[in-house]
Amino acid sequence: MFTAFLIKYAEIGVKGKNRYLFEEALVKQIKYAVKRCEGEFKVTRTQGRIYVEAQSDFDFDEVTDNLKTVFGISGICPVVYLEDEGIEKLGEAIVAYMEKVHPEQNQSFKVHARRARKNYPLNSMELNSELGGIILAARPDLQVDVHNPAILLSVEIREKIYIYSKTIPGPGGMPVGSGGKAMLLLSGGIDSPVAGYMIAKRGVKIDAVYFHAPPYTSERAKQKVVDLARQVSYYTGPIYLHVINFTEIQLYIYEKCPHEELTIIMRRYMMRIAEHIAGETGCLGLITGESIGQVASQTLPSLAATNEVCTMAVYRPLIGMDKMEIVELSEKIGTYETSILPYEDCCTIFVAKHPVTKPNVERIRKHEKNLEERIDELVAEALRTDEVLVVHR
Ligand code: ATP
Ligand code: MG
Repeated sequence: MFTAFLIKYAEIGVKGKNRYLFEEALVKQIKYAVKRCEGEFKVTRTQGRIYVEAQSDFDFDEVTDNLKTVFGISGICPVVYLEDEGIEKLGEAIVAYMEKVHPEQNQSFKVHARRARKNYPLNSMELNSELGGIILAARPDLQVDVHNPAILLSVEIREKIYIYSKTIPGPGGMPVGSGGKAMLLLSGGIDSPVAGYMIAKRGVKIDAVYFHAPPYTSERAKQKVVDLARQVSYYTGPIYLHVINFTEIQLYIYEKCPHEELTIIMRRYMMRIAEHIAGETGCLGLITGESIGQVASQTLPSLAATNEVCTMAVYRPLIGMDKMEIVELSEKIGTYETSILPYEDCCTIFVAKHPVTKPNVERIRKHEKNLEERIDELVAEALRTDEVLVVHR
């Protein structure tokens, strides 16, 4: 029945002169989403409207499910379109549309016509009453209600004529690629994939870095992170995932520093390395899944100690959320089941029994001095292990 989709976008409509940049980013993401679907599609942008037109058979649910992953879309309207062959043919098409899409009896409706092509013989008002009359003649059970109709039937006259009346909610947000790029510190846990999702939702393209520590962390743990990156990429487009071998650094910290400060010092080195890679790859910020108080390394003093080593902005979109709320979101975006697989992550191997919750930055700096002899060389070596995987659906 439906042969196209009209894409509605709210927030990006208000961006003045920058609007076309946002629309271009949105079109790009829409193309990426429909490319995954069975069938051929044409994505077009005209006069503040984006249409996805099917050029072949397609699976309606597959296409709408994929469009629901595109940030920037506020609504997806399934559309029937036809060639302009006169008002009589249009009337027939509209009656057929109402029969198929709105067979329920005794509904109220309103026709909302828009004439984007001014050479059409009827203006919008005339079209509204003409088409309203045709519908009423064919469907005496319906009533017109111009103020609060149950069915708002839109008819747009362009090159072709488009008919629609239903809107499937989109995810909202801004199209990925319209807001710069940031580096996500992606572990195998519940939080960081959600953090990446939230920042991407604001239009930011995402790269990711994962620190693994073989043989203390397994290949399966790494594969889990790749899988999580892939799930996040449904929303963000392809992700460049940097896998860094962190084992030597971790062992060295373990050997030289007090064990209750291990986690914090490790996290400081992760941030330093992530910032380095971010700088080299054009990222403008780091993203972590931290949330205040969730674990010892996420108290305010701990976060301050971790933050101190970065000059780049660090975005922590989950900072004020409860675990329950984060879990809910991870279920919604489809990462939860993977996140809870029981493979160890590199922090669980080296955690102290009693990690500090109020680290003293002076002391931490002092203990990091114990690392002076080899740490630069180990960091450089870790950067050389950088394995870049391009992860996408
Ligand atoms: P998550 O569920 O995201 O793993 P968490 O509650 O386990 O978070 P921590 O282990 O303290 O928290 O890590 C805090 C943040 O540091 C993570 O959200 C992630 O952004 C980053 N991080 C931790 N471990 C790694 C790792 N091995 N590789 C990359 N980033 C990491
Ligand atoms: Mg973790």
